[in-house]
Amino acid sequence: MPQAFDDTIPGTDIQRGMNKDDLIVITGAGGFIAGSLTRYFAEQGYTNIRAVDRKPLPDWYLRVPGVESISADLSVEANAIEAVKGAVEVYNLAADMGGMGFIENFRVECLRSILVNTHLTEASYNAGVERYFFSSSACAYNTDLQKNPEVVALKESDAYPAMAERGYGWEKLVSEMFCEEYWAERQLETHIARFHNIYGPNGTWFGGREKAPAAMCRKVLEAQDSGDMRIEIWGDGTQTRSFCYIDDCLHGIDRIMHSPELIATPINLGSSELVSINTLVDIVEDIAGVKLEREYDLDAPKGVAGRNSDNTFILEVLGWEPNKPLRDGMAETYAWISEQFAARKAGKRVVTG
Ligand code: NAD
Repeated sequence: MPQAFDDTIPGTDIQRGMNKDDLIVITGAGGFIAGSLTRYFAEQGYTNIRAVDRKPLPDWYLRVPGVESISADLSVEANAIEAVKGAVEVYNLAADMGGMGFIENFRVECLRSILVNTHLTEASYNAGVERYFFSSSACAYNTDLQKNPEVVALKESDAYPAMAERGYGWEKLVSEMFCEEYWAERQLETHIARFHNIYGPNGTWFGGREKAPAAMCRKVLEAQDSGDMRIEIWGDGTQTRSFCYIDDCLHGIDRIMHSPELIATPINLGSSELVSINTLVDIVEDIAGVKLEREYDLDAPKGVAGRNSDNTFILEVLGWEPNKPLRDGMAETYAWISEQFAARKAGKRVVTG
């Protein structure tokens, strides 16, 4: 007799209400978080997953065996309609994005991701999708509240009155609004998480779109490799952030998507362990066992002065918050980037840039 499929989220008593072969569509799956999410659901036993990204397949960060992988630009309406056909759940993580260097210099590209969510919500509504997830960002918060490194953590209501990060943040805020109104007016069940700096293995670590944790690992590796024991830091190093490990992010997405209390209700998904960029560098130096001379580039993009995730709401609703200590997550990230660095140096093709 075949064993019944257990769709309980590990570590919780939340049931997803999914059959093993219900179609799950994940967009942006050639990138960091959605690639990891695809693997996560495949490992949970789901057998009918469609992964979509505009990148050509050889450039995807992760290719998960048994998953239908499609290269298509979802800012084109016809592709969005095709992508969600037959889906029970849609996870939209496709966006043109990167670290501060990217989002401060390519605002038009960031804004144009609005097309992806606009087409996917409409297509999901028409296709009768049961649940729709949107990956928003801490950049949707009012930047006026983030001018001081001694931050008060951002709570969900701090997005309004709105003064989001130009370009990228406004795209996220308006896309959130689409998700909220598709629920209010048309009963498409949407779930919205505001990610705060996700990091970990299989993320971008070179090429200009990388974020601070991966960039620091790479710079420390480059210094050791070249013997030039200096490190360039963007800003004066006092800017503060929290960083959330990828496994916590994946568990959080799963819980948020399957919590009826969180329909059309944006919620923080981030760590509340606040550190300065200088402390982040200390951590990487410590992991690598080196000490570098620091050079501060005060003209480089540095983003807001301080930002942390207020986790009161997620703790209240889910009784859980991201909890991987930064030191442990960075050790795993550094180990993975070291391997990638060595592979690239040996002339092997590395796609995570
Ligand atoms: P990523 O750049 O690694 O992945 C995004 C993927 O989306 C890329 O592979 C890209 O090719 C794809 N994409 C972009 N435009 C597309 C289009 N028109 N059609 C199809 N695919 C398209 O980024 P990530 O870090 O994995 O981020 C995933 C999501 O999470 C994004 O929505 C991002 O804005 C959000 N987010 C991430 C972070 C973070 O710290 N990584 C923080 C806040 C929000």
